Amino acid sequence: MTKQNTFDLPLHTHWSYDATTPPEHYFAQAEKSGITHIAITDHHTNDGIQETLEAAAKHPTVNFFSAAELTVHCELGTFDMVCLGLPITPTPELEKVYEAYHTWQRGFGDHLCKNFTEAGYPFPMEDRIRIVKQFRPEKTLKVQGITHVQYHLLLKYLLEEKKYFPDRDSLNKVWGSFPAYDYPEADFVLPAVRKAGGIIFIAHPHPYFYRDDLKRMDALRERLGFDGIECAHTDVPEELTPFYRDYCKKYNLLSSAGSDAHKPTTPMATHIAERCYLEEILERVSCVKL
Ligand SMILES: [Zn+2]
Repeated sequence: MTKQNTFDLPLHTHWSYDATTPPEHYFAQAEKSGITHIAITDHHTNDGIQETLEAAAKHPTVNFFSAAELTVHCELGTFDMVCLGLPITPTPELEKVYEAYHTWQRGFGDHLCKNFTEAGYPFPMEDRIRIVKQFRPEKTLKVQGITHVQYHLLLKYLLEEKKYFPDRDSLNKVWGSFPAYDYPEADFVLPAVRKAGGIIFIAHPHPYFYRDDLKRMDALRERLGFDGIECAHTDVPEELTPFYRDYCKKYNLLSSAGSDAHKPTTPMATHIAERCYLEEILERVSCVKL
């Protein structure tokens, strides 16, 4: 069993379209288990910042990075980028980025409803609203509107409730025929993060890196210009962590680690990273001062 670590840098609260944890839970849990540093990395947004600040104020032993996980598209693919050290109040450029993601999330939901319906599998807006309301607090919908649906609930709806498809393969065949609905472009998002003082990590990189393909790693490093790699993560095979860490050392990159928890029952900070990952990050960006 992996032992509990002392920092956890990607965490999702209910301000992420697919997560259900209130910020308070992570701070309380961290305080209880001796976790000193966390990052709240909601998908595509800093909408939860006020609630996070309130939770942080109650748990002063826990330091937190203001952060977001921004998914970007470029000609090499689509990548989740964990951005740490973002300002509490967004810069004008970041404001535009967050707004683009708000629009993207509603638009992607619309795109799926429309395309399934046109393909003969009706997916009306009222069903999407019902599913989203099952797990998203009203306050988040007030700010973000009706986002797309958590992946596993979407599968449940299409496969079990509606019985449109006998299995995932037949669903994927139809889904795969839809026109692309790309995430915001890396060249629009990442410069705004850098300009705002944030540092950028490529998240859970094993699929992006084809595990350990150095050519691919070099190509993505050059194209995306990330500052670091999430070397240890719940889904990253443990044998790859030292390999990624060595790569970071070779190219003077930072290393990050965390649980990527989305719900309160997920154990925090169960990764195998060393404390020096965090110390190196702290030389570049600071936690929020309350
Ligand atoms: Zn997620």
